[in-house]
Amino acid sequence: MPWTDPAKLIEDARAGGYAIGAFNMHNVETTEALVWAAEQAEAPVFLQVGRAIVPHMGVRKAFEMTKRVAEESNAQFVIHLDHGPWDECLEAIKLGFNSIMYDGAHLPFEENIKTTRRIVEIAHDFGIPVEAELGKIPDVGESVHWPDYYTDVGEAKRFVEETGVDYLAISVGIVHGVIPGLKPEPLAIERTLEIRDAVGIPLVLHGASGIPENEVLAACAAGVHKFNADTDLRHAFRAGIEAVWAKGDYQLEEAMAEGRTRMVAATIEKMKLYGCAGKAPR
Ligand SMILES: [Zn+2]
Repeated sequence: MPWTDPAKLIEDARAGGYAIGAFNMHNVETTEALVWAAEQAEAPVFLQVGRAIVPHMGVRKAFEMTKRVAEESNAQFVIHLDHGPWDECLEAIKLGFNSIMYDGAHLPFEENIKTTRRIVEIAHDFGIPVEAELGKIPDVGESVHWPDYYTDVGEAKRFVEETGVDYLAISVGIVHGVIPGLKPEPLAIERTLEIRDAVGIPLVLHGASGIPENEVLAACAAGVHKFNADTDLRHAFRAGIEAVWAKGDYQLEEAMAEGRTRMVAATIEKMKLYGCAGKAPR
């Protein structure tokens, strides 16, 4: 089964009141885990080329490997670039990604609007939707006073109107990765609703690992229709490898196979939670 139109996936999710999972690939085995989970759960999936893989194998290799694995499967998939800088977004469009996220967060707000609008114009010429992120999301190692990090409603409204982005990733109490010692805060659902009503486009939550199930469902009901999760799946893969090697010095393939098996199960759990399981019947 084929490449799937990301805009339609997200629109269907919005109409149906569920969300699509977006997960990072890291190598052949993790990519297989994601597409096998999508097949088994009959769920559409965003296969993401994330920030860690780029210095590791480069965008082209990551894309080609993901494409090969996905096209061999029966999964309904999208190949998405996560947090791409300008040049990488252009490269991704040329390579054949069918969804991109442009990250202009390092720029002053006005510059961010200008460059995002330009990327949106180019991507839309190729029929590719664009995601952007607004609001600060803490990274590992930062100390956090949450309200300073939330997406501002007025800024979000202006940003979406002036850039034409298709989905907006927001900051409402989430982190990228895991911050040791950071007390988790309940998601700011009120703020999410305010942003949804102001911008009128589907919202995205990054860093969705470790969020309690009831908060995931509340976020979905408040307008979030794409969740990016990586850490929980990585931990599942790692646990499989460690379980094999705890028994002795087995081959790398045996360890990775167990990692893959556990990552399939963990991914299916996410798909069920997000409500997208069964939405891509074969
Ligand atoms: Zn992000």
